[in-house]
Parts: sequence; structure tokens; C-alpha cells
Amino acid sequence: VSAAAAIVSDVRVGDRATAPVAEGAPVELLGLTRAEIAAALVAAGEPDKGAKMRASQLWHWIYYRGSRNFAEMTTLSKDLRERLATRFSIGRPVASKDLQSTDGTRKWLLKFPDGEEAECVHIPEEDRGALCVSSQVGCTLTCRFCHTGTMKLVRNLDAGEIVGQVMLARDHLGEWPSPKDGRMLSNIVMMGMGEPLYNFDSVSKALKIVMDNEGIAISKRRITLSTAGVVPMIERCGAELGVNLAISLHAVRDDIRDVIVPINKKYPIRDLMAACAAYPGLSNARRITFEYVMLKGVNDTPADAKELVRLLKGVPAKVNLIPFNPWPGAPYECSSDEAIRKFSDIVFNAGYSSPVRTPRGRDIMAACGQLKSASVKRSKADILREQAAKEAAAAAVQPA
Ligand code: SAH
Repeated sequence: VSAAAAIVSDVRVGDRATAPVAEGAPVELLGLTRAEIAAALVAAGEPDKGAKMRASQLWHWIYYRGSRNFAEMTTLSKDLRERLATRFSIGRPVASKDLQSTDGTRKWLLKFPDGEEAECVHIPEEDRGALCVSSQVGCTLTCRFCHTGTMKLVRNLDAGEIVGQVMLARDHLGEWPSPKDGRMLSNIVMMGMGEPLYNFDSVSKALKIVMDNEGIAISKRRITLSTAGVVPMIERCGAELGVNLAISLHAVRDDIRDVIVPINKKYPIRDLMAACAAYPGLSNARRITFEYVMLKGVNDTPADAKELVRLLKGVPAKVNLIPFNPWPGAPYECSSDEAIRKFSDIVFNAGYSSPVRTPRGRDIMAACGQLKSASVKRSKADILREQAAKEAAAAAVQPA
């Protein structure tokens, strides 16, 4: 076994730590860097010489043309295409549900090969559209107003599963080869299930693929990563990716934020604001978005709005007010229109843009904070029990 093979198997093992790949199964190319594709080719017995170029050709077919099928990759020799087809795959998550809202918002329930599920949402506008991408199955954060927060973290998504959401959306929208203009998938928001800064390696790898100019080519200016405030990762996010940052602030006092966004107990507002002020590349043209969910009687008074303005001092900022989106059993209600308007006026009059986000896709539970899947965290004991039950069932049907 060559050194390259060892590298590739490292990548696979590291990447799929929680979604193991069967021995001898085709190697999935989605989510690999160019260098990793080249190494995978060499590990599969292709010559070293030219591996880099062939990796670039594959990249073009996979990410520029959206190809899933080696046979159509006519810039590669027929022999090579045949060999590739036996050793590699270019997959997509399976969309086990495809729901469309009356407002055009579309939600896919994605099923990954190990059976775990996450959701992904396309929000079309007149002449463009954003894709809301998930980074984890479930979430560790337990924010009180968020439906995903009622799930435990089941596992991280790997880079292929994250970029796969973009690929799948493009398949459905018919946006291959990668169009220059007029895209209905023009923007990406890392605002789906999970905390992207708690799965940063995979998110970073996936976003670098998405931004690559010879492929999907969505620019960092059109990508926004939202975090509940994983303070020690914020700088790295800016330095390594340079994408727009959104902060799920939602409260201006630690005593309230501790309750509704519990990560605040670890990284309080003052530390969070300091990390924001230091975010690389900020200017008046590039501001941080502060998301603020409007919860009746919790965080929606004029005094809260004034305190928000005070907190934002010194940070190029805009505010996005999000009317609370309800979900079954949620312990909160949305603030009144009047309270939201007053809040917005105070922030706006202090010189910050403060639009109220129009809820999209509420009828299909696709709006902010409504995503949830049926995946559950299982303990080792659960898994062993399931296995034993399966074996017992198989033994029972076996002839004596
Ligand atoms: N974990 C990251 C990414 C999720 S983004 C983060 O917290 O930023 C999802 C956004 O929707 C966050 O701003 C979240 O706070 C917000 N949200 C959660 N539940 C909501 C609800 N019920 N109504 C409106 N917004 C909600």
C-alpha cells in the first residue's frame, strides 16, 4: 500500500468517523479537495504522473457540470472512465421528502447513507435565491426557542454531505453547468440545523469547494455563516473563509441570554462582542449581521432596543429582526407587530439597518428555527441491542 493510499484512508476515516464506509465500497469523491482526489486516483492504481491534471478534470465535471456519471466525462479516456466507475462514486444525499411552501420556499429532507437525516431549505426571491444549509444532524446548543435545539446532536455532517446539499439543490433547480448570472441559487446561508462553528473543519472544507471558481463558484460575499457565538472560532472563520458573519444574539443582557441561548454561559455577551469587533475584513461595506428573534415579553422592549444600540457601538453592524416562528410545544410567542416596529425604529434611528425578516416557508416548517429531523442519538448500548435483535430475527427465520 502506497503512502497516498494511507493518506486517502486517513481522510476517509477522519471525515466519516461517525458514518463508517464499508471496506471495498467505492470511494466517494464529493467533499474531497483537488489534492485528495489526486491522491485517491493514485491510491486506486492510476499513475502519479498526470494525477493532478486528471483531478482538475474531474473537478470540472463534478463541480462545474454537476456530472454524477463517469461515462459522460468525455475529456477523460474511455478506459480511465471505465476504471473510475468501478472504484469511485459521485453521490448526492437522497431527498426523502421534497416539500414546497405556498410562498415558493422548498424544503428537502435529506437521508444520508447511514440513515441519519437533516433538512435543507431553498428560499427563492424574484431573481435570486438563498440555500439554507445544515452543518450537523441535531445540535448541542439547546436554544430555548429553536426546534432543532430540542434534538440532541446526532452527528456532524462531513464536507461531502454539506457540499452535497448545494449539489442537490442545483440538480433540482437545473443550474448546471454552473451559470454565471441569473442563478436562483445565488447565496448560501449556513443557517440550517446545527452550529457550524462546532463542525468547522468540515464546514470550511465544504465552503472552500463551494467558493472555488472552477466549480460551483459562489463567492464569499454571497455566503453567510451564522453562529450562536462560539467565540474562539470566530476569528478563524474570518481569516480562513472570509465569509459574511451573522451572530444569533437574541438578547442584550447575560441573565436573559444565559436562558435562551445557553452557550452564553460559556461565552458571554462582552466576549462575543469583542470577537465581533475583531472579525477580519469588517468595514462599512462589510458588516456583521446581528440576528434577533422577537419573543413576546422576553427580549422585545424599547429598553432592550436601546441596549442593543449601545452594544453595537464600534462594530460595523446591521440588525435582522426575526419574528419568532412557532413550533409544536414551543415555550414562547412572537412579539406583537407594534413591539417589533418600535424596536426596529429605535435601532434604525440610531443609524443601523434593521429590517424585519419576512417569515418564509412556515407552512412546511421550513422557517428559521423550525427545522428538525427524526434522527435520534443512540447510545452504544442501543446500537448493540438493535444489532442483537436483528441477529435474533435473522436466526429465527433460518431453517434448523
Ligand atoms: N447555530 C447557528 C446556525 C443556526 S441559524 C446559529 O445559532 O446561528 C438559525 C437561526 O434561526 C438562528 O439565528 C436562530 O437563533 C434562529 N431561530 C431559531 N429558532 C427560531 C424561531 N423559532 N424563530 C425564529 N428564529 C429562530
